[in-house]
Amino acid sequence: ATGSEAKKVRTTCPYCGVGCQQWLHVKDGRVIKVTAVEEGAPNLGRLCVKGRFGYDFIHSPERLTHPLIRDGEAFRKASWDEALDLVAEKFKQIKQLHGPDALAGISCARSINEDSYNMQKLFRATIGTNNIDHCARTCHAPTVAGLARAFGSGAMTNSFAEVLGAKLFFVIGSNMTEAHPVASTFVKQAVRNGAELIVADPRFNGIAEHAHTYMQIKVGSDVALINGMMHVLITEELYDRDYVIANTVGFDELREVVMQYPPERVAEISGVPAETIRAVARKMAAVRPSMLMYTLGITEHTCGVNNVLSCANLQMLLGNVGVEYGGVNPLRGQNNVQGACDMGALPADYPGYQKVTDAASRAKFSQAWGVELPDTPGLMIPDMIDGLENGTVKALYVFGENIANTEPDINHVEHCLRSAEFVVCNDIFETETTRFAHVVLPAAAWSEDDGTFTNAERRVSRVRKAVEPPGEAKPNWWIFKEIARRMGQEWASASGQEIWDNEVAPLSPIFSGIRYQRIETDGLQWPVPDEDHPGTTIMHKDGKFTCGKGNLSALEWAPPAEVPDEEYPFVLSTGRRLYHYHTRTQTGRCEGLNTLLGSETADISAEDANALGIGQGEKIRVVSRRGSVEVAARITGQVPPGLVWMAFHFREGCANWLTNPAFDPISKTAEFKACAVRLEKL
Ligand code: SF4
Repeated sequence: ATGSEAKKVRTTCPYCGVGCQQWLHVKDGRVIKVTAVEEGAPNLGRLCVKGRFGYDFIHSPERLTHPLIRDGEAFRKASWDEALDLVAEKFKQIKQLHGPDALAGISCARSINEDSYNMQKLFRATIGTNNIDHCARTCHAPTVAGLARAFGSGAMTNSFAEVLGAKLFFVIGSNMTEAHPVASTFVKQAVRNGAELIVADPRFNGIAEHAHTYMQIKVGSDVALINGMMHVLITEELYDRDYVIANTVGFDELREVVMQYPPERVAEISGVPAETIRAVARKMAAVRPSMLMYTLGITEHTCGVNNVLSCANLQMLLGNVGVEYGGVNPLRGQNNVQGACDMGALPADYPGYQKVTDAASRAKFSQAWGVELPDTPGLMIPDMIDGLENGTVKALYVFGENIANTEPDINHVEHCLRSAEFVVCNDIFETETTRFAHVVLPAAAWSEDDGTFTNAERRVSRVRKAVEPPGEAKPNWWIFKEIARRMGQEWASASGQEIWDNEVAPLSPIFSGIRYQRIETDGLQWPVPDEDHPGTTIMHKDGKFTCGKGNLSALEWAPPAEVPDEEYPFVLSTGRRLYHYHTRTQTGRCEGLNTLLGSETADISAEDANALGIGQGEKIRVVSRRGSVEVAARITGQVPPGLVWMAFHFREGCANWLTNPAFDPISKTAEFKACAVRLEKL
């Protein structure tokens, strides 16, 4: 727009999985302000500090504006033709010499669905491998695997709109006031209006301040805690017997294991008094339904899938699945981590969770893409990274992720990246990861392209172009299409809308009824099987699970892979803070957010600080078996003695110099929430 009037462009927030609807106010080709869309789902006119003030990065002078090609230790500017030709040639050469499985790709949970669709298509249809994954591996892969096993569908069962009407919340392992702020405002409003809130978390976090009952569980004791609660429900016959008989399988096996977890034993494992465990179980049986909400405190463990299954067990036992104001509700972290999963940026799944091992699905995608497709699941991110070191992976394509900061044990990740024969990155900024690239391709940001995001409640919402990309930056879907063309495949779709309407929707039954013209305002929640379907606010209604009957799982508790000892006597747990988002590639370029939080701290208890002679704000060294960081101590009542809590937003003081690359055996999600450290006063 020109003159004094700004135009307003409706879009979806580029930060967390709540998926708030915003107006970008644009004047003279620049975004000058962000406000909330006044009404409608999911945010009802609300935005948090990141959504409201986290937009400076769009016009940062540090944006990548030209393709870059490595030239010794530095990069030189290149034309698109030169850079894309080099990528295509190198990919063809590696494929010819070592086979397609020597190439691997990591897609982006921040970019539009249509970008992830094209990236997985590039790997599957053009390169010929299922080595495609994304950062759900780092966060919610246990949700995808666990809820798929329990219910047949790995996504949030209910909707944010129900939160305001719910009667009881069980929030476990969720720092929602900082990581999903607008969702937490709904919970707090419901509590003010009379709903009850039970919180279980090792750290007395922001939502715990509003709880009627707070259970300060020991890190990694979730399976035991929930088994203890189910012990009470079963022995006191408080569970929903009719629901369990009619709608689930596996109760007898579950009961047999749960009987080994009386509250007194669980109290020893979890640190939660037996009477509190009994009281919470009785409360949840008395006030039904309840909404169970969780985040990465559940998933980022070596038992992450079992933690998710425990949540599903509890809610099925109470008959709380498939009902309004109930369900199992994982709060997905990134704005489009649900969407990147949905689009098939997973090693075993085509778009819409159709399996690469299923012959009929494979035949459908083979026909649509005009090529034979591989039938074995591809590598997950930890194996891609290790593959760079052991030589099985020669080339890694990293799209929009900063794995040199987000994966556990940064020293190891950087060693592997240095071992790679060829690394390509699409990004909007140079990052700690692009330092290892041979080619860096400058991408359009979320405000510079048309497409869709899918939020935590499965809502597919529009993302709209408000301003032009800087310099020669291009949409990511275009970059993948151009590489495919140079490798011998012409793809017809030439916009986000064409990719969705002509490929994603026709090929994926859960999206069949979604077309761009249907999601101009509030979006639609999948599954949407046809164009008259209104979308699905509650899944598994009337006991009709996607997999038939719900699967109860008998689960034993196991401790974290690394527990404190004499040398490393503290537990380190990690998480996110309100004012920044992941590795700050975006929020670190926002002046207001940097003013609000400019550095990392290690949060420790007053008891531990006193014992070690550490004062508030003093620099300390936190040391694990894998590395050490120097960081300011923040003495707080939020953490109990024995626990250290840190985030991964700042490179200096990033918790991932310390975290343990021990993985859940099913999802290969790392145990970011538990490792052993010692503290040294400097
Ligand atoms: Fe954006 Fe999440 Fe904040 Fe909403 S709650 S404004 S989606 S960061």
